Amino acid sequence: MPPTDRQADVARWIDAAQRIVVLTGAGISTDSGIPDFRGPQGVWTRNPAAEKQSTIQNYLADKEVRKAAWRGRLEHTAWSARPNRGHDALVTLERRGKLHALITQNVDELHQIAGNSPDKVIEVHGTIRRVMCWQCGERAPMEKALARVRAGEEDPACRSCGGILKSDTISFGQALVPEVIDQAMTAAGEADLLLAIGSTLQVYPVAGAVPLAKRAGAKVVIVNAEPTGMDELADAVLRGSIGEILPAICAAPPPAH
Ligand code: NAD
Repeated sequence: MPPTDRQADVARWIDAAQRIVVLTGAGISTDSGIPDFRGPQGVWTRNPAAEKQSTIQNYLADKEVRKAAWRGRLEHTAWSARPNRGHDALVTLERRGKLHALITQNVDELHQIAGNSPDKVIEVHGTIRRVMCWQCGERAPMEKALARVRAGEEDPACRSCGGILKSDTISFGQALVPEVIDQAMTAAGEADLLLAIGSTLQVYPVAGAVPLAKRAGAKVVIVNAEPTGMDELADAVLRGSIGEILPAICAAPPPAH
């Protein structure tokens, strides 16, 4: 599909930029088969009770909630998901030497699997590919815990201390990791262009990276299918499919003759 005029403007800004900070939300992974939470087909839009079940207090207090969570993890769409054209476009941005940091709210690691350097990716909500013991803090690969669930353990406990295991993600009611948020906000303040992709920009403090970058002088571009809470402060809003828009705006321009 040929780029629109506005996409062509953004492609020129990307060409001129040197320190692009990207902020991604669940919308970049829907084309990989992982549903978002708040979009029209989102997990919470279809089942508002699911949001309550995912609070940390319920998880820690109720073995039945944990058993259901482990059954859900076994079947998670992320295990078979592959990066899509949107993820690939951000790898292009890094290969062009333009990516300063990639802040993601996603927990699927598809940016790293696509080929972005792990040291560029700031996972503000953690990853589902690891487990963490709520008691001793030990971390281990998710795959090992899932193998125990497949073998019949309904709520596998920490091998070291017997504590409650959970995916190493930030659940509702759980504190964010201050060092990780600091790293994300520092990067946003250093951007010359901030690209927010596939997020309703409702979850703070991460959404605050957008006004922070703007105040520090960055251009702000939002790519999302629906309006977001930050559209008013953006220099450009590209409304549509991430898988179509990102390849068009991130590609290197053809060589001049
Ligand atoms: P969100 O669910 O609040 O919003 C996603 C937005 O993306 C919606 O506005 C939706 O319209 C848009 N969108 C979806 N598919 C799109 C597409 N193909 N093209 C264009 N736009 C599209 O997402 P959020 O703000 O990131 O918040 C959800 C939270 O839940 C995140 O913080 C994250 O931690 C977690 N989450 C992660 C994953 C994942 O890792 N893939 C999936 C679901 C939820």
